[in-house]
Amino acid sequence: TQLTNQIAAGEVVERPASVVKELVENCIDAGARRVEVDIERGGARLIRILDDGRGIHKDDLALALTRHATSKIKSFNDLCAVKSLGFRGEALASIASVSRLLLRSRQADAELGWQAVAEGRDMAVKVTPAAAVTGTCIEVRDLFYNTPARRKFLRTEKTEFTHIEDTVKREALANPEVAFVLKHNGKIIKRYPAAKSFEHLQEKLKLVCGRGFSQQALYFHSDLDELSIKGWLGSPQHHRSESDNQFIFINGRPVKDRLLSHAIRQSYTGRIPQGRFASYAIYIQCPANEVDVNVHPTKHEVRFRNPRQIHDFLVKLIEECLSGSTS
Ligand code: ADP
Ligand code: MG
Repeated sequence: TQLTNQIAAGEVVERPASVVKELVENCIDAGARRVEVDIERGGARLIRILDDGRGIHKDDLALALTRHATSKIKSFNDLCAVKSLGFRGEALASIASVSRLLLRSRQADAELGWQAVAEGRDMAVKVTPAAAVTGTCIEVRDLFYNTPARRKFLRTEKTEFTHIEDTVKREALANPEVAFVLKHNGKIIKRYPAAKSFEHLQEKLKLVCGRGFSQQALYFHSDLDELSIKGWLGSPQHHRSESDNQFIFINGRPVKDRLLSHAIRQSYTGRIPQGRFASYAIYIQCPANEVDVNVHPTKHEVRFRNPRQIHDFLVKLIEECLSGSTS
């Protein structure tokens, strides 16, 4: 029901940027090559996400808006080996319960598109035919319109949009081969073309993190058993905030992990001028059962089975990388 979904939304949907994150990750799961994020009024009025992924079958549209109907987790083992980005099957239902959500989709071999809305207390889903190109379009209007207390917590348009921009940056770097377009109030704000491979990523880094980052960026790459860590250390920058231009990806997922941030900060000790912060984009690959990504609903936090190993390996790598540059 709407209430249950709203309670779930309390955990998943913190602000417009968290909606963007969930919806974009769904596009990625659907194999999209191009994702357009169209925002009005910092996301408070409209969040529209368009992708060219495989789309949703008409018969599955209602399910997609129903809580847990799509959960891919069937057992504890599944929990440890989640590969696709979405896995709880509640993001759409949660978002639908605190907004006016419209889901429109068309599969490549379908004659026409279909759209779905969930309405009322029982979140009954209405499915009707609609003109559509192949792929999926989700419109989230008037976020929190029916939960005024939460609507009140939305910050200024500019602040909310900055959060959205950060989210799109993270997803763009996490999925180099996917093209992203970000619009705000009808204007194109950012365009991140697809990078053909990891090696072409540097071009994208320049777009996302700025010239200052990529010009002096140090590349590193090292493997330890099944653990692979590679990435770039940019030159320390004056950031808007400490976490600006600090990106960590684990198995293709953007994460914010205290342990890892700490490892990196430690490696940088004494190597950064006052008032500047480290900037980096670090890509970690490890076996899925080595990392639990289900610590928190928003999936930013992770838990490693062997945290010390990753921590020490990362510190060693960064220190080597940094000292190589100064000697
Ligand atoms: P989850 O991602 O955890 O499965 P969601 O609530 O985010 O749950 O999405 C529900 C389901 O809707 C997904 O499992 C997927 O089948 C479908 N879906 C959502 N967004 C898209 C999309 N952009 N393209 C194709 N299918 C989608
Ligand atoms: Mg999802």
